[in-house]
Amino acid sequence: MKHFVYADNSATTPISDEVLTAMLPYLKEGYGNASSIYSKGREAKQALEAARQTAADCLGAQPGEIYFTSGGSEADNWAIKGAAAAGAKKGRRHIITTAFEHHAVLHTVQALEKQGFEVTYLPVGRNGIVDPEDVKKAIRDDTCLVSVMYANNEIGTIQPIAQIGAICRERHVWFHTDAVQAVGNVPIDVVKENIDMLSLSGHKIHAQKGIGVLYLRRGIVLENLIHGGAQERSRRAGTENVAAIVGLAKAMELACSSIEEKQKKLIPLRDKLITELCKIERSHLNGDPTRRLAGNVNISFEGVEGESLLLMLDMNGICASSGSACTSGSLDPSHVLLAIGLPHEVAHGSLRLSLDWCNSQEDVDYILEVLPQIIQRLRAMSPLWERIKKENIDYGI
Ligand SMILES: *Cc1c(COP(=O)(O)O)cnc(C)c1O
Repeated sequence: MKHFVYADNSATTPISDEVLTAMLPYLKEGYGNASSIYSKGREAKQALEAARQTAADCLGAQPGEIYFTSGGSEADNWAIKGAAAAGAKKGRRHIITTAFEHHAVLHTVQALEKQGFEVTYLPVGRNGIVDPEDVKKAIRDDTCLVSVMYANNEIGTIQPIAQIGAICRERHVWFHTDAVQAVGNVPIDVVKENIDMLSLSGHKIHAQKGIGVLYLRRGIVLENLIHGGAQERSRRAGTENVAAIVGLAKAMELACSSIEEKQKKLIPLRDKLITELCKIERSHLNGDPTRRLAGNVNISFEGVEGESLLLMLDMNGICASSGSACTSGSLDPSHVLLAIGLPHEVAHGSLRLSLDWCNSQEDVDYILEVLPQIIQRLRAMSPLWERIKKENIDYGI
């Protein structure tokens, strides 16, 4: 029988049975518009508000602080553009973020740079973790926003969010975190961690694509990103996608109540892959070995081309990623891997395996059976590998 291993769960996940079951009634007979006053509408409204409560509970937030969006990207855009506009009104046009954010954050702050905002990109070091001291040093009187992701989507490193939150609160600077990869992997409490704004996405935790949340701490008012009707307390227009919202709440409930169990399952699988793959000559683990997501493996193989590696894995039924899905189709190596100091040549030969509930010990064994042979074959055809060996190139990593 042909093996199939889905090891790209940081790119997206399938909708779980529980989530689909929760959604179905609202796709069928419960189709009412949540703004309508007859009972079909009110039923939809009730489901919407119950979902808001569930989402809030998962984050330690209040339901009035939860706004449903079309996904992680919209939540990031809204938080950042909104905070920038609020800052600009007070003459504060400086934003702090990191060099290895998701493009939903990076491209948004880059767009703001074109409008005259100044952006500080904090370094993340070889281990892929932001130093809170760097945040402290970067804050200025005109800083209007600090945005640091909770967990990196490529190398899985988990950031000291509570420490950064405390620093921002002390300096009265709004703190946003893109927690798309963290939800269900790390316990989150927006109050204890002094988080002012938080983005999350449904499809990374077994809900559907096109739904997400922006948490906005009470008292923070952002300019609307989407104008129109009075939905989401007049702050985010558009007829509510009740089925998707109900599904997202169910997914959050399941994800947030199973963090320990997930870690118990995935960490041994992750560490087995890391240990065995790092035995391959001239391979390097990217990101901190322990302060990383339970399912994240990211390794660079010198003398290997990432795209070819992905194609060969695919021929063997293994779905993985090199850099991030958003960069495929582009020849630039991942900005995340460059940010942690990998030379271009090495960054090009990187592989991300992201495990989740669907993965088993058998999957790991199969990957370990197939992957080393593929690397050997690719290296045998690689002029770069020949040069690395002949000149004994030392990349210093
Ligand atoms: C996937 C992802 C996003 C984008 O979320 P969408 O719902 O796909 O828009 C943003 N940030 C991170 C870290 C992600 O992994």
